Amino acid sequence: MDASNPPLSRAELVVDAEAIRGNVALLAAQARRSGAATMAVVKADGYGHGASTAARAALAGGATWLGVRSQAEALALRADGIIADILCWLHEADEDFTEAVRHGVTISVAAQATLQAVVRAARQLGTTADIHLKIDTGLSRNGATRDDWPALVAAAAEAESAGQVSVDAVWSHLACADEPGHPSIDAQAERFDAAYRVACDAGLHPMRHLANSAATLTRPDLHFDLVRPGIACYGLNPVPGHTEVRLRPAMTLRSRVALVKRVPAGEGVSYGLTWTAPRDTTLALVPVGYADGMPRLLSGRMSVWLAGARRPIAGRICMDQFVVDCGDDPVRPGDPVVLFGAGDHGEPTATEWADAIGTIDYEIVTGLYRPRARRHVVDLPGESGPPEAAHNGGDRA
Ligand SMILES: *Cc1c(COP(=O)(O)O)cnc(C)c1O
Repeated sequence: MDASNPPLSRAELVVDAEAIRGNVALLAAQARRSGAATMAVVKADGYGHGASTAARAALAGGATWLGVRSQAEALALRADGIIADILCWLHEADEDFTEAVRHGVTISVAAQATLQAVVRAARQLGTTADIHLKIDTGLSRNGATRDDWPALVAAAAEAESAGQVSVDAVWSHLACADEPGHPSIDAQAERFDAAYRVACDAGLHPMRHLANSAATLTRPDLHFDLVRPGIACYGLNPVPGHTEVRLRPAMTLRSRVALVKRVPAGEGVSYGLTWTAPRDTTLALVPVGYADGMPRLLSGRMSVWLAGARRPIAGRICMDQFVVDCGDDPVRPGDPVVLFGAGDHGEPTATEWADAIGTIDYEIVTGLYRPRARRHVVDLPGESGPPEAAHNGGDRA
């Protein structure tokens, strides 16, 4: 990363907003080829990159919609001055939607109770609420069942006639889009089509959206009116082997060496003494640990980029620190350490971390704990403003 921005805290997340903008531009170009618009998913604080940072970069890259989990996440974007269309889809029991409706946030409706709550909010405000009806086509998570669908559609159509809601879309979510050719994808697409026809027969004229990142990349026939990429916006590829669209990871995790010491051959390192120096060697202490969200399972399975080379983590990762074996190479306190990044210089990537411990990179980038791991945004050109670190670690994103 930019050498003029040395890490200011022990664990620093550097977010490359330009990479997000570029990734979204590539995804939006794919979508446009099928006549679809792009909703960038910025839930979970923009997959750990900062929701507003990610949202602004995505909008600059050509997204026209933003997708978030909850009303609260949507309202936080509005509070940050973001006026683009926003869809929120996961609600609490008895949620009050007044603020979402007041701020023009589109609400996903998958149940009669939600529809009623949205209608209440719209009537109270004397306005029409925008909704997207969600059908469960096989993920069995969020979404109305096929049994409940006709009655939900009928009730929504009635509320639309009464001017309480506008049913702007019918949508669903795929279970196995990251396994191209999986038979469930076409099966879900068929159910989706049937649900759409029920809505049309009820007199609705909704858009359709179904595709996450993986389907955006691999199934142009399922782009419909809008695609909903999340992970790919951040430069991580959910489809192993798919290299057509050149995505760029936007997050770097870095730190600096806190202490350097020389130990003789045979000396054990870290809790449990699971690693023993095979020769006289230099150890570097890095002040990042599992309390920062670094998976302890990476102990003995990962290396870091330090002083121009990849160097193995020696022994167990602790709560606040870990040790790196540097052999006889000269390293000094203060030397930058890249734990993961875009991979340009040979540093590990978030995907490598995930592969090493049998998880997905989604979990790596969303799992770093702030404010311990402080975030520093490298802004889009022209978007100036003090880095968040300048105002004491406040979450600028
Ligand atoms: C998270 C999410 C997405 C984005 O998924 P990716 O695999 O990150 O592209 C799209 N739609 C819904 C409903 C989601 O929950």
